[in-house]
Amino acid sequence: AMYDAKLAGKNSYVVFKHSETGQALKQKTEMVDNLKNAIQKGHITAFFQPKINALTEDIIGFEALVRWVDPEIGLINPGHFIPLAEETGLINEIGEFVTKYACEMLVQWQKKFGLSLSCSINLSAVQLLDSKLPEKLENIVNSSGIHPHFIDFEITETINLDDIPNLVSLLNEIVEIGCTLSIDDFGTGHSSLDYVKRIPAKYIKIDQSFVKNIGLNPEDEAILDATINIAKRLNRELVAEGVETLEIKEWLDNKSCLIQQGYFFFRPLPQDQVENLLTNQIADTINIIGHHN
Ligand code: C2E
Ligand code: CA
Ligand code: CA
Repeated sequence: AMYDAKLAGKNSYVVFKHSETGQALKQKTEMVDNLKNAIQKGHITAFFQPKINALTEDIIGFEALVRWVDPEIGLINPGHFIPLAEETGLINEIGEFVTKYACEMLVQWQKKFGLSLSCSINLSAVQLLDSKLPEKLENIVNSSGIHPHFIDFEITETINLDDIPNLVSLLNEIVEIGCTLSIDDFGTGHSSLDYVKRIPAKYIKIDQSFVKNIGLNPEDEAILDATINIAKRLNRELVAEGVETLEIKEWLDNKSCLIQQGYFFFRPLPQDQVENLLTNQIADTINIIGHHN
């Protein structure tokens, strides 16, 4: 309970759990300290996973995915620290960092490579509780010099609309900045259809669990078909993530689901590897033009 009090003093999202013993709480406090330390020392960064135009196989943009690079442990994936960051409110700081980093990288790449690349950034439900969030995002986007329409924010569909008061108006404020929204993990929440209707999202990101089962499970294929129809009829663009095989890619191509992301194309990559990739993409384009001439 002492550790709880300590945590709760500084942060608003700690909930007392009876199952947590003193030992577990001690470990947790250490983990929180480590995470705070990592933020201060600049050990938090983001990797970028390319989004592909499946027709041309060009990179059209990225999703920024946070990473903790610990000098001793190495790379720590978000699954290991995002829940704690959300519980302690540290996700606000992490989220702002990722937004700033992604915007700055994107400006650099657009200038260096002359491509109109876009970037998606994940927003946590905890961040959406902050009514000042749109203003904060606007400041970060504008001071980076990126045009806001290249920045997309992903909201997971597992968020219950009723849990966050004024969520729809907050999301509208983000759209007013000029940024776009994606509904992430579509199909896994409880209120998919109501969600699409109410949320001003340009994109629907179909959840990996359905995409992975293409060619394996006809029911998941049927859900995909239905989702593709919903997106079309409601004038939303579809993004398929978790594309791992050529078979899956081609199935999606045939359904005109052309924005794709997944290990079949690229894994999330650090900034320097993204630059190598873009350098090659430019070189290929020049070769093609040269060839035609
Ligand atoms: P997500 O938003 O659904 O992100 C997609 C996850 O799927 C990423 O895992 C990505 O590396 C992984 N992935 C991409 N393509 C494939 C594929 O073909 N096959 C498989 N098996 N996996 C693939 P990652 O980077 O570990 O992120 C996990 C989750 O952590 C994210 O799920 C997101 O919910 C959260 N997250 C990541 N970065 C941030 C962030 O900056 N802020 C917040 N709030 N959450 C983040
Ligand atoms: Ca996402
Ligand atoms: Ca997702």
